[in-house]
Amino acid sequence: MSFDIIKGMATTLKNMGKKPTTISYPEQERELPPRFRGRHVLHRYENGLERCVGCYLCAGACPADAIYIEAEENTEEQRVSAGERYAKVFDVNLLRCIFCGYCQAACPTGAITLEHQYKLASYYPEEMVYHKEQLLEPEGQATTGSNDAWFEPAPTDAAQPVPQESHVFDGSEASAAAVGLGDYPTEEPVLLVNEEQDEDRRKVASRKDEQRP
Ligand code: SF4
Ligand code: SF4
Repeated sequence: MSFDIIKGMATTLKNMGKKPTTISYPEQERELPPRFRGRHVLHRYENGLERCVGCYLCAGACPADAIYIEAEENTEEQRVSAGERYAKVFDVNLLRCIFCGYCQAACPTGAITLEHQYKLASYYPEEMVYHKEQLLEPEGQATTGSNDAWFEPAPTDAAQPVPQESHVFDGSEASAAAVGLGDYPTEEPVLLVNEEQDEDRRKVASRKDEQRP
Protein backbone atom coordinates (compact mmCIF):
# COMPACT_ATOMS: atom_id res chain seq x y z
CA MET A 1 0.00 0.00 0.00
CA SER A 2 1.50 3.25 -0.99
CA PHE A 3 2.20 5.97 1.52
CA ASP A 4 -0.34 8.30 -0.10
CA ILE A 5 -3.19 5.83 0.47
CA ILE A 6 -2.20 5.39 4.13
CA LYS A 7 -2.09 9.16 4.51
CA GLY A 8 -5.51 9.51 2.91
CA MET A 9 -7.04 6.83 5.14
CA ALA A 10 -5.49 8.43 8.21
CA THR A 11 -7.14 11.73 7.28
CA THR A 12 -10.48 9.95 6.82
CA LEU A 13 -10.18 8.19 10.19
CA LYS A 14 -9.20 11.44 11.90
CA ASN A 15 -12.32 13.22 10.66
CA MET A 16 -14.79 10.36 11.04
CA GLY A 17 -15.77 11.27 14.56
CA LYS A 18 -16.06 15.00 13.90
CA LYS A 19 -19.33 16.87 13.46
CA PRO A 20 -19.93 17.65 9.75
CA THR A 21 -19.54 21.24 8.67
CA THR A 22 -22.16 20.83 5.95
CA ILE A 23 -25.91 20.69 6.51
CA SER A 24 -28.69 18.92 4.65
CA TYR A 25 -30.36 21.93 3.06
CA PRO A 26 -33.31 22.39 2.52
CA GLU A 27 -34.34 20.01 5.33
CA GLN A 28 -31.97 21.86 7.64
CA GLU A 29 -31.29 25.58 7.56
CA ARG A 30 -28.47 27.56 9.08
CA GLU A 31 -29.05 30.17 11.74
CA LEU A 32 -28.11 33.44 10.08
CA PRO A 33 -26.14 36.26 11.69
CA PRO A 34 -28.40 39.09 12.90
CA ARG A 35 -26.98 41.47 10.29
CA PHE A 36 -27.47 39.13 7.34
CA ARG A 37 -28.96 41.08 4.44
CA GLY A 38 -31.51 39.21 2.37
CA ARG A 39 -34.65 40.29 0.58
CA HIS A 40 -36.22 43.66 1.34
CA VAL A 41 -39.31 44.16 3.49
CA LEU A 42 -41.45 47.30 3.60
CA HIS A 43 -42.78 48.01 7.07
CA ARG A 44 -45.96 49.44 8.57
CA TYR A 45 -46.80 51.34 11.72
CA GLU A 46 -48.95 49.68 14.31
CA ASN A 47 -51.99 51.60 13.09
CA GLY A 48 -51.55 49.98 9.68
CA LEU A 49 -50.15 53.02 7.86
CA GLU A 50 -47.20 52.34 5.64
CA ARG A 51 -43.88 53.75 6.80
CA CYS A 52 -42.75 54.54 3.27
CA VAL A 53 -43.47 58.14 2.33
CA GLY A 54 -42.34 57.86 -1.27
CA CYS A 55 -39.35 60.16 -0.82
CA TYR A 56 -37.06 58.31 -3.28
CA LEU A 57 -34.06 58.55 -0.96
CA CYS A 58 -33.51 54.80 -1.11
CA ALA A 59 -33.66 54.82 -4.90
CA GLY A 60 -31.21 57.72 -4.97
CA ALA A 61 -28.80 55.92 -2.64
CA CYS A 62 -28.93 52.63 -4.54
CA PRO A 63 -25.66 52.08 -6.41
CA ALA A 64 -27.22 49.40 -8.62
CA ASP A 65 -30.28 51.40 -9.72
CA ALA A 66 -32.40 48.52 -8.46
CA ILE A 67 -35.31 50.46 -6.94
CA TYR A 68 -38.18 51.96 -8.91
CA ILE A 69 -40.77 54.10 -7.14
CA GLU A 70 -43.84 56.03 -8.20
CA ALA A 71 -45.16 58.26 -5.43
CA GLU A 72 -48.75 59.42 -5.01
CA GLU A 73 -50.32 62.03 -2.71
CA ASN A 74 -52.25 60.87 0.34
CA THR A 75 -55.74 62.33 0.56
CA GLU A 76 -58.11 62.74 3.48
CA GLU A 77 -60.29 60.03 2.01
CA GLN A 78 -57.41 57.69 1.32
CA ARG A 79 -54.42 57.88 3.65
CA VAL A 80 -51.87 55.15 3.00
CA SER A 81 -48.76 56.46 4.74
CA ALA A 82 -47.90 58.85 7.55
CA GLY A 83 -46.41 61.46 5.24
CA GLU A 84 -47.61 63.65 2.43
CA ARG A 85 -47.05 60.93 -0.13
CA TYR A 86 -46.89 57.19 -0.30
CA ALA A 87 -45.31 54.76 -2.72
CA LYS A 88 -47.96 53.73 -5.21
CA VAL A 89 -45.38 51.63 -7.02
CA PHE A 90 -42.35 50.19 -5.27
CA ASP A 91 -40.29 47.68 -7.20
CA VAL A 92 -36.94 46.16 -6.29
CA ASN A 93 -35.06 44.39 -9.05
CA LEU A 94 -33.31 41.62 -7.18
CA LEU A 95 -31.24 40.72 -10.23
CA ARG A 96 -29.53 44.11 -10.00
CA CYS A 97 -29.47 44.35 -6.19
CA ILE A 98 -26.11 43.73 -4.54
CA PHE A 99 -27.64 43.61 -1.04
CA CYS A 100 -25.45 46.44 0.18
CA GLY A 101 -28.08 47.87 2.53
CA TYR A 102 -27.64 51.48 1.39
CA CYS A 103 -31.40 51.76 0.81
CA GLN A 104 -32.04 50.74 4.41
CA ALA A 105 -29.48 53.24 5.68
CA ALA A 106 -30.92 56.07 3.54
CA CYS A 107 -34.54 55.63 4.60
CA PRO A 108 -35.64 58.36 7.04
CA THR A 109 -38.64 56.44 8.33
CA GLY A 110 -37.28 52.92 8.77
CA ALA A 111 -39.62 51.79 6.02
CA ILE A 112 -37.29 49.42 4.20
CA THR A 113 -35.00 46.79 5.66
CA LEU A 114 -33.12 43.79 4.33
CA GLU A 115 -34.24 40.68 6.11
CA HIS A 116 -33.29 37.02 6.44
CA GLN A 117 -35.14 35.89 3.35
CA TYR A 118 -32.60 34.40 0.98
CA LYS A 119 -34.59 31.81 -0.99
CA LEU A 120 -34.59 33.92 -4.11
CA ALA A 121 -34.49 31.90 -7.28
CA SER A 122 -36.56 31.72 -10.40
CA TYR A 123 -36.40 30.43 -13.95
CA TYR A 124 -37.89 33.73 -15.12
CA PRO A 125 -36.07 37.07 -14.72
CA GLU A 126 -39.32 39.03 -14.48
CA GLU A 127 -40.17 37.13 -11.30
CA MET A 128 -37.06 38.59 -9.70
CA VAL A 129 -38.53 42.08 -9.79
CA TYR A 130 -40.40 42.18 -6.51
CA HIS A 131 -43.38 44.51 -6.34
CA LYS A 132 -44.76 46.42 -3.39
CA GLU A 133 -47.44 43.79 -2.79
CA GLN A 134 -44.71 41.20 -2.25
CA LEU A 135 -42.46 43.45 -0.18
CA LEU A 136 -44.99 45.05 2.17
CA GLU A 137 -45.74 43.55 5.56
CA PRO A 138 -49.25 42.12 5.71
CA GLU A 139 -51.89 44.23 7.43
CA GLY A 140 -51.86 43.64 11.15
CA GLN A 141 -48.09 43.20 11.23
CA ALA A 142 -45.84 46.09 12.27
CA THR A 143 -42.18 45.30 12.69
CA THR A 144 -39.01 47.35 12.37
CA GLY A 145 -36.96 44.45 11.03
CA SER A 146 -33.19 44.41 11.00
CA ASN A 147 -33.01 48.09 11.93
CA ASP A 148 -32.84 46.70 15.46
CA ALA A 149 -29.66 44.79 14.64
CA TRP A 150 -27.94 47.67 12.90
CA PHE A 151 -28.65 50.71 15.01
CA GLU A 152 -28.43 51.63 18.64
CA PRO A 153 -31.85 52.71 19.87
CA ALA A 154 -32.25 56.49 19.56
CA PRO A 155 -32.22 58.51 22.79
CA THR A 156 -35.75 58.98 24.03
CA ASP A 157 -35.51 62.76 23.67
CA ALA A 158 -34.28 62.56 20.04
CA ALA A 159 -36.47 64.14 17.41
CA GLN A 160 -38.41 61.45 15.61
CA PRO A 161 -38.71 61.83 11.86
CA VAL A 162 -42.32 60.68 11.96
CA PRO A 163 -44.72 61.44 14.82
CA GLN A 164 -44.63 58.48 17.14
CA GLU A 165 -47.95 59.14 18.86
CA SER A 166 -50.33 59.74 16.00
CA HIS A 167 -48.21 58.18 13.25
CA VAL A 168 -49.72 60.83 11.00
CA PHE A 169 -47.84 63.97 10.10
CA ASP A 170 -49.76 67.08 11.08
CA GLY A 171 -46.87 69.54 11.19
CA SER A 172 -46.73 69.78 14.97
CA GLU A 173 -44.36 67.03 16.03
CA ALA A 174 -41.59 66.47 13.53
CA SER A 175 -39.55 67.75 10.66
CA ALA A 176 -41.73 68.18 7.61
CA ALA A 177 -38.80 67.54 5.31
CA ALA A 178 -38.15 64.20 6.96
CA VAL A 179 -41.54 62.89 5.99
CA GLY A 180 -41.67 64.40 2.54
CA LEU A 181 -43.64 67.53 3.38
CA GLY A 182 -40.68 69.85 3.05
CA ASP A 183 -41.57 73.13 1.40
CA TYR A 184 -38.75 75.26 2.72
CA PRO A 185 -37.68 77.92 0.23
CA THR A 186 -34.21 77.34 -1.12
CA GLU A 187 -31.67 79.94 -0.04
CA GLU A 188 -30.69 80.89 -3.58
CA PRO A 189 -32.12 80.11 -6.95
CA VAL A 190 -30.32 77.11 -8.35
CA LEU A 191 -27.27 77.92 -10.43
CA LEU A 192 -28.83 77.14 -13.76
CA VAL A 193 -31.36 79.96 -13.40
CA ASN A 194 -29.00 82.36 -11.63
CA GLU A 195 -28.33 84.97 -14.30
CA GLU A 196 -25.31 86.40 -12.53
CA GLN A 197 -23.69 82.99 -12.27
CA ASP A 198 -24.53 82.14 -15.85
CA GLU A 199 -23.06 85.47 -16.94
CA ASP A 200 -19.87 84.68 -15.02
CA ARG A 201 -19.65 81.26 -16.61
CA ARG A 202 -20.02 82.79 -20.04
CA LYS A 203 -17.13 85.10 -19.29
CA VAL A 204 -14.91 82.22 -18.29
CA ALA A 205 -15.93 80.29 -21.38
CA SER A 206 -15.22 83.23 -23.69
CA ARG A 207 -11.83 83.84 -22.03
CA LYS A 208 -10.96 80.20 -22.64
CA ASP A 209 -12.00 80.61 -26.28
CA GLU A 210 -9.73 83.66 -26.59
CA GLN A 211 -6.77 81.75 -25.16
CA ARG A 212 -7.11 78.94 -27.68
CA PRO A 213 -4.46 79.01 -30.42
S1 SF4 B 1 -29.49 46.66 -1.04
FE1 SF4 B 1 -28.16 48.09 -2.15
S2 SF4 B 1 -28.27 47.43 -4.28
FE2 SF4 B 1 -29.99 46.45 -3.22
S3 SF4 B 1 -31.72 47.84 -3.55
FE3 SF4 B 1 -30.76 48.42 -1.60
S4 SF4 B 1 -29.28 50.04 -2.11
FE4 SF4 B 1 -29.84 48.98 -4.03
S1 SF4 C 1 -36.26 56.02 1.54
FE1 SF4 C 1 -37.80 54.95 2.80
S2 SF4 C 1 -39.54 56.35 2.84
FE2 SF4 C 1 -38.23 57.03 1.16
S3 SF4 C 1 -39.05 55.97 -0.65
FE3 SF4 C 1 -37.43 54.66 0.16
S4 SF4 C 1 -38.47 53.22 1.54
FE4 SF4 C 1 -39.88 54.90 1.13
